[in-house]
Amino acid sequence: MRAVVTGGAGFLGSHLCEALLADGAEVVAVDNLCTGRAANVEHLHATGRFTLLERDVSHGFEVDGPVDLVLHFASPASPIDYLRLPIETLLVGSHGTQHALELARDKSARFVLASTSEVYGDPLVHPQREDYWGHVNPVGPRGVYDEAKRFGEALTLAYRQTHGVDTGIVRIFNTFGPRMRPDDGRAIPNFVRQSLAGEPVTVSGDGLQTRSICYVDDLVAGILAMARSDHPGPINIGNPHEISMVDLANWVVKLAESDSPVVHIARPVDDPTVRRPDTSLAQEILHWSPKVPIEDALQLTIAWFRAHATTTPPLSAE
Ligand code: NAD
Ligand code: UDP
Repeated sequence: MRAVVTGGAGFLGSHLCEALLADGAEVVAVDNLCTGRAANVEHLHATGRFTLLERDVSHGFEVDGPVDLVLHFASPASPIDYLRLPIETLLVGSHGTQHALELARDKSARFVLASTSEVYGDPLVHPQREDYWGHVNPVGPRGVYDEAKRFGEALTLAYRQTHGVDTGIVRIFNTFGPRMRPDDGRAIPNFVRQSLAGEPVTVSGDGLQTRSICYVDDLVAGILAMARSDHPGPINIGNPHEISMVDLANWVVKLAESDSPVVHIARPVDDPTVRRPDTSLAQEILHWSPKVPIEDALQLTIAWFRAHATTTPPLSAE
């Protein structure tokens, strides 16, 4: 088994590479390090079955030898990253997805696209099932990410229908865990970093907006189940554990044994109000459901940040 993971030096990509290597696979990560870090995968070289190719997948890339699986995970994913890299985000979702699909076609490999709950936008249906078409503002600030992923889904299906590529689409809901960048700007890394530093914990708006949060190990198990199946998807992968951001902030402060105050900051434009996956399809088709209790997952994440945050420089410092 030989797998290519685009975005393999990122948060989710590095965990996927690790899990594939643990299963005995040979892994090629392809990453331009625009939001990821070579340090995330440094420890994987010791297996002797891991290669990191530093390439921009939007510009095309080649992988020598046979390939059985292509996991297309390259894309800025945090709102602050895709707002900083709007055109790059659109290109990696379009050109990058096409190059990854071409690789799968050329090698007769299974292809899995990392799509997102953001394709549902600010949803008017709750919880979100895969047959909901979504409520997305194409010209709002988040449009660059949401529309790139929606285009990527359509292109993936077109390659399946036109070229017979064995494709699958997963819609990933908010996932967290070790190796998130402390400066990544997403809610959990911010809340954990701020709590550990004794700084104010920043909740946007009144904090009553919700997200459903999944631990990375559960997510990886779901992705690998999708990789092993031949189902086209889209299939939601996430933990239906829904929580408001103000409750989450207070929970992190408590678990980190911090005395940080919770403060309120401006709410981003088009910030979704609710989000929760209906995971019936993942249970039925992939026999997958999340296992790690959220309190344990938060404890594991806080412990990792405690040990690594001060030795993980911001991207701008590398
Ligand atoms: P991340 O920013 O940590 O990882 C993304 C990786 O892709 C980085 O290593 C980055 O350098 C790389 N990359 C970006 N553009 C590239 C390009 N043009 N060429 C090569 N490499 C490129 O983000 P993440 O949270 O690990 O997200 C990984 C994937 O999962 C993304 O596609 C994201 O949209 C999707 N996703 C993540 C979540 C989540 O909660 N983490 C939720 C939904 C979807
Ligand atoms: N958020 C927050 N404080 C922060 C960062 C984010 O309250 O310091 C909010 C954000 O406005 C959103 C939620 O937390 O309502 C989840 O944001 P995140 O960026 O983690 O994920 P996404 O919006 O992409 O689901």
